[in-house]
Amino acid sequence: MRLSRYFLPVLKETPAEAQIVSHRLMLRAGMIKQASAGIYSWLPLGFKVLRKIEGIVHEEQIRAGHIPMLMPTLQSADLWRESGRYDAYGAEMLRIKDRHERDMLYTPTAEELITDIFRDNVSSYRDLPLTMYQVQWKFRDEIRPRFGVMRGREFYMKDGYNFDLTKEDALHAYNRHLVSYLRTYERMGLQAIPMRADSGPIGGDYTHEFLILAETGESEVFYDSEITDLTFGDREINYDDHAQCQAVLEEFTSRYARTDETHDEAEFGKVPEARRRSARGIEVGQIFYFGTTYSEALGATVQDADGNQVAVHMGSHGIGVSRLAGALIEANHDDNGIIWPEGVTPFHAGVINLRQGDSATDGACEALYAALKKRGLEPLYDDRDERAGAKFATMDLIGLPWRVTVGPRGLGNGVVELTSRRTGESEEMSPEAAVDRIAQIYAGV
Ligand code: ATP
Ligand code: MG
Repeated sequence: MRLSRYFLPVLKETPAEAQIVSHRLMLRAGMIKQASAGIYSWLPLGFKVLRKIEGIVHEEQIRAGHIPMLMPTLQSADLWRESGRYDAYGAEMLRIKDRHERDMLYTPTAEELITDIFRDNVSSYRDLPLTMYQVQWKFRDEIRPRFGVMRGREFYMKDGYNFDLTKEDALHAYNRHLVSYLRTYERMGLQAIPMRADSGPIGGDYTHEFLILAETGESEVFYDSEITDLTFGDREINYDDHAQCQAVLEEFTSRYARTDETHDEAEFGKVPEARRRSARGIEVGQIFYFGTTYSEALGATVQDADGNQVAVHMGSHGIGVSRLAGALIEANHDDNGIIWPEGVTPFHAGVINLRQGDSATDGACEALYAALKKRGLEPLYDDRDERAGAKFATMDLIGLPWRVTVGPRGLGNGVVELTSRRTGESEEMSPEAAVDRIAQIYAGV
């Protein structure tokens, strides 16, 4: 993409309404624009990041054997009356009437709808286990929408639902989700810690929230510092292997890590004092096993091997896809702007032309731009007729991890400059070597 043709409405001033750095930077970098309280348009740069996050979520869900689908945002109230949640959900549910005066709602989550799909189509234990998921807009009429996309009213969420014959199978689904989430967040360059959480109105005994440590987080968390040394890495997982998934779960959840809702001072006291930490965290996902609550309420049963009708065991599992865009910035920025991890960057590298209009420099930039695209990469070429300082400031603000700077002086010696946004370190090399290096970096992402 050529910056001169792109839509990147960068703001010079720091927006006064934004209280936290990710919100400020998303507005300044032209990623989002508020449409009304807690509801945002995703401008091209923000949309690209959202798609990258969503892409990783899909890949890891599919790797875990989960099946993608899509349900509507508007639902009839009837199913929610059947489950009892139409009245229980309260003011966070946006209720709408259609022209026939029928009660509708904008989905805050989709347990009812997916259970309805299941009960109408699945009748035998032979069709289990089954896990389906979607990435879809949700609406919750939050009392205090704030922090930009971190606590919106409309937000983009991955929600997945497992259906299993037995509790044991459903707990395997729970473990499988935990493992796949660890991998998902790590691919985005984030350390999200599974913490024992409160199951709230959904109910059930098993639930973990995934939290990213950040000063601006809304949750208070308590943990054993050893937990931050754990990494998932590139281990091979067979998601059908119950024992293997269980072992990973135990590895990542055996140390003390809880949100304030489940915090227990006596238990925490057993952690050696030097390792006890309390901090703030951003919730980027949550997994639940809730048994037969919905399947019983809605009559989602299957015939088991002995011919008995049994209610299926279920769980639901969410990832805050749009919240992650903000959370990623909270975890990756400096005074000059965003620093995207390679896995989610909107463009792979920036190309800066230091002397726009100089035919040799323009030619070298065009060749570099074409060579990067030929390698399957998406460069952003700053071809505007702007001062070098302004180009650097924009590139730093929008946070592309790699920048190639092309100027007449370097070209005289046959070199361009490759700069890491994260470390600020630069290295001179031939344009071909710069393309190779960038391609190599992304080959491993
Ligand atoms: P919270 O405690 O932050 O209100 P929740 O526990 O009600 O969230 P879940 O039902 O677990 O949310 O939804 C799954 C994920 O969706 C959350 O982990 C979070 O990342 C994201 N999410 C929930 N509410 C919002 C919101 N208002 N804006 C943006 N993302 C949200
Ligand atoms: Mg939650």
